[in-house]
Amino acid sequence: MFIFDAHVDTLSRLLGTNQTLDANEGHVDLAKLRQNGGGAQFFAAFISPKYYHGKALHNTLEMLDLFWQWMEDFGQDLAFAGTTKDISENQKSGKMSCLLAIEGGEALEGKLANLRMFYRLGVRLLTLTWNHRNDLAAGQGEGSSGGGLSLFGQAVVKEMNRLGMLVDVSHLNEEGFWDVLRLSEAPVLASHSNAKALCDHPRNLTDEQIIRLADGGGVIGVNFCTHFLAKERQATIHDVVEQIEYLVNVGGVDCVGLGSDFDGIDRTPLGLDHYGKTSELADILRERGYTKGDIEKIMGGNLLRLCQTVLD
Ligand SMILES: [Zn+2]
Repeated sequence: MFIFDAHVDTLSRLLGTNQTLDANEGHVDLAKLRQNGGGAQFFAAFISPKYYHGKALHNTLEMLDLFWQWMEDFGQDLAFAGTTKDISENQKSGKMSCLLAIEGGEALEGKLANLRMFYRLGVRLLTLTWNHRNDLAAGQGEGSSGGGLSLFGQAVVKEMNRLGMLVDVSHLNEEGFWDVLRLSEAPVLASHSNAKALCDHPRNLTDEQIIRLADGGGVIGVNFCTHFLAKERQATIHDVVEQIEYLVNVGGVDCVGLGSDFDGIDRTPLGLDHYGKTSELADILRERGYTKGDIEKIMGGNLLRLCQTVLD
């Protein structure tokens, strides 16, 4: 089974702790990556708010360096991918494809030049905001008072379209989301978001957002964060499956993917406590009568299709 997850925060976890990828720590490590049997993974350089004022670019570069060190140190198991051609070549040599993402437009420090430099360093996805307002747009934490995309945010989306980068709308407030959908010439990604109808959290998407994103050929990576799955009780792997089923029913089977948020969440759903367990979602979908083709789409095929459209 080819598994392609759109969002983990392992880079920031490891840069912050000085642990190494081959240590048995956190939700994601080398052994757990192997457990899923190869596939592909977007590693997000998540910029903590403590670096926003003056250190965002610096902190991002340190995470990108850590990523490239992994490619050297663990080159027997892992390999960089910037296109889907890279992914299929890595698959042939039995390696997991590692793709680079940045979570938070603060990293650009107001310059398109930095976006282009990030692209040259291998970055293929940018989550425009985290929860706060930045010079591109406003995160969901600002509510509608934050407004939509700024002029700079619009220029970033256009330049990402031109370069062939995935525009990620997870964390954006609603105004920003609709601005991106209006502006982007390419289908967009919500790398780690769920459906609001099942769990009313500001990080989750309304039915209207799901339908419009899906109509444009976009993909939504289901998030395993317990707060976005269930309120006032412990979430389980079945809540993740419920989210998948709901997105399939509302947006169609072609819009659903995975965006676990492993290493960025404080608690995991019961039955899905680390990266190596992700394949168990496929087993449950099989029990629920999903076809092999649909399961392959959800576990990674849809995200691969989106990458083909946008990156290649
Ligand atoms: Zn996030």
